[in-house]
Amino acid sequence: MMTRVENKIRSLLPTLKETYMYLHSHPELSMQEVETARYISKRLKDLGLEVHEGIGGTGVAAILRNGRGPVVMMRADMDALPMKEETGLSYASQWTTLNRTGEMVPVSHMCGHDMHMTWLLGTLEILSETKEDWQGTVVGIFQPGEETAEGSKAMIEGGLSDMIPKPDIILGQHLMQYCAGTVAIRGGQILTAGDSLEVTFFGKGGHGGMPQNAIDPVIMASSAVLRLQTIASREVAPSDQVVITVGSIQAGKVENIIPHEARLKLNVRTTDEKVREKVLEAIRRICEAEALASGASLMPEIKEINSFPLTVNDEGAAELIEGSFRKYFGNKTLKAEPIGASEDFSRFGRAWNVPYVYWFVGGTKKEIYEEALKSGTTGSLPGPHSPHWAPSLLPTLAVGIETMIIAASHWLRQK
Ligand SMILES: [Zn+2]
Ligand SMILES: [Zn+2]
Repeated sequence: MMTRVENKIRSLLPTLKETYMYLHSHPELSMQEVETARYISKRLKDLGLEVHEGIGGTGVAAILRNGRGPVVMMRADMDALPMKEETGLSYASQWTTLNRTGEMVPVSHMCGHDMHMTWLLGTLEILSETKEDWQGTVVGIFQPGEETAEGSKAMIEGGLSDMIPKPDIILGQHLMQYCAGTVAIRGGQILTAGDSLEVTFFGKGGHGGMPQNAIDPVIMASSAVLRLQTIASREVAPSDQVVITVGSIQAGKVENIIPHEARLKLNVRTTDEKVREKVLEAIRRICEAEALASGASLMPEIKEINSFPLTVNDEGAAELIEGSFRKYFGNKTLKAEPIGASEDFSRFGRAWNVPYVYWFVGGTKKEIYEEALKSGTTGSLPGPHSPHWAPSLLPTLAVGIETMIIAASHWLRQK
């Protein structure tokens, strides 16, 4: 089957390039992917697929039925980032857009979701043209809002499970700064859980020269910032990976007024569900204890900004796919190391309690990657969320389609 797929990809390449460049130069922010979803839906309808639109906002699902057999769900994400592209490419994004708070911001596909959409459109096109080679059902999911951890949840709450058949396996992939042409996969945990919180401490404002009449929330917040670091060093085992970063601290405007409130924004990364719960509980305990220590009459308010679940690949399914990748891509198949980024992809697997597998596809130009390898600087190559990241289109456009079809073929009955 793969020879036929390779030939199809070759003849599709001009269309794939065009699709990628169109999507790359028309980025939209999370949960605002209106034009992107319209474009995707039209392309899917042109293929003759059953298309469901507007799921959880802008989510799109396409169903390709081809007789009895397992259901394979493939997922791509559609959102871009509020950042300026600095690649200097001829098709670089020049756009600015209004974000949800009404601020004008630059917008660009610097996470590579444009590549993910192109891969999935290409995969669905090839599968719909090679129906005599396989049997079963393929569901393509184009989800909004991955960057904000909203999209998969919105689609599930928007009734996705009533629109598509229950999947037997869910597949997802992300473009990464590995060498173009390589793929990286592992069983078990591959991405961390990410939780972002906003903590507001309530004090009692007053004159900077008469602190005895005030309760200072700046002290509570400052003390909490330091004490929160003891969670990683004192409350969990050295083998458990925990990162707590306080990325924002805001209180007051001038030097001689004690403010009423102080606000922290923090980000937590963990690699184990039990540890995650323990860490989140410890954050609450420490913040409340700081408020008590200062004699505050109100406990701090802790609000979730976003929450990305852990991504843990099904061991058996990942092993099967890794074996096929090795057969097809040879030594260009790498063992992925778990990385410190997070995804909301696993929510789909959790929604039906079915296995899922997620892997990486390399996108850095070979010469650039090999140069970096020689100088030991692969760690500083531009990758997702870098304004300088310019993935090489070849062979990347083809590889992400090959990976999907190879992985899916374990479930789609071969004729
Ligand atoms: Zn991203
Ligand atoms: Zn991404």
